[in-house]
Amino acid sequence: MVTPRRAPDASISGTSPAFHIDTPLLESTSLSKSSGMRVFLKMDALQPAGSFKIRGVGYACTQYHHQGRKRFIAASGGNAGLAVAYAAKRLDTEAVIVVPKTTKSSAIFAIANEGAKVVVHGDTWFEAHVHALSLTTPEDAYIHPFDDPLLWQGHATIVDEIAATGLVPDAIVLAVGGGGLLSGVALGVARQHWNTTAIFGMETAGADCLARAMRAGHIVQMDAITSVATSLGASYACDNAFAISKQANFKSIVVPDEEAVNAGRQFLRQHRVAVEPACGAALAAVYSGHLEDYGFESVVVIVCGGVGIRIEDLV
Ligand SMILES: *Cc1c(COP(=O)(O)O)cnc(C)c1O
Repeated sequence: MVTPRRAPDASISGTSPAFHIDTPLLESTSLSKSSGMRVFLKMDALQPAGSFKIRGVGYACTQYHHQGRKRFIAASGGNAGLAVAYAAKRLDTEAVIVVPKTTKSSAIFAIANEGAKVVVHGDTWFEAHVHALSLTTPEDAYIHPFDDPLLWQGHATIVDEIAATGLVPDAIVLAVGGGGLLSGVALGVARQHWNTTAIFGMETAGADCLARAMRAGHIVQMDAITSVATSLGASYACDNAFAISKQANFKSIVVPDEEAVNAGRQFLRQHRVAVEPACGAALAAVYSGHLEDYGFESVVVIVCGGVGIRIEDLV
């Protein structure tokens, strides 16, 4: 087992401590045995607010707070909205979270429970996003769920923490929605000069905006998200993610919903942690054997987590 230590975090400076925690990097005995390579799990399901999002959101909110912005505005009925509410409360700053009508009442409750104001608007994330932008004055900071370099700086701490354990993985596997996590991990990998580490971006069919952009040769806007992995349901991949997708070290894999859900189910059984299908998409890379032909000795799967899951949904 690789024991995580506190990451030095040279990139993150500022007067406030980060809101995220250094998460454990655990070797999975079961996955290592079944796959024939060492499989490490970066357990961001354990983050406060339930997902990796607090890394980037916490960093971005802290920076905007230092700049004197008076209010945070976000559009997300999911983990990004909750992370903004969580950070805003701890920065003693007002937050307005615009959520689409499809948002579950449990998610609205969780966001409001952190003290944020919830505005229900639009049928899709994109409509909520457009409305949220219209509410944003120069005094406010709009906290984008995936397309902001400040966010990527925060997400990059995942790689700093892996590096601090001494492990240099052959591959890092992660889920892709709008590509914020991908942008952060690619930044971290470049910063560590891990020139031989591959990055696998996993999407589910029906929430595969990056794979579609790669096929089309330009960013595409998806009209509808048809996957159950709603946290991957960004309607487009950001420019930076599209640029990363052209790098030689990047591979895109799209899995059907069943593979993502099954991976989440097997992960619950073996590791006793419930994660969203969005995170299951990353786990499916190993559970469904998609990495078999690469001859990797070690891979890290980012267990990105997500609060939009109940045990009852999985069992
Ligand atoms: C936001 C999110 C993703 C996708 O992240 P992007 O930065 O949008 O690519 C994946 N899984 C979970 C659980 C998320 O909350």
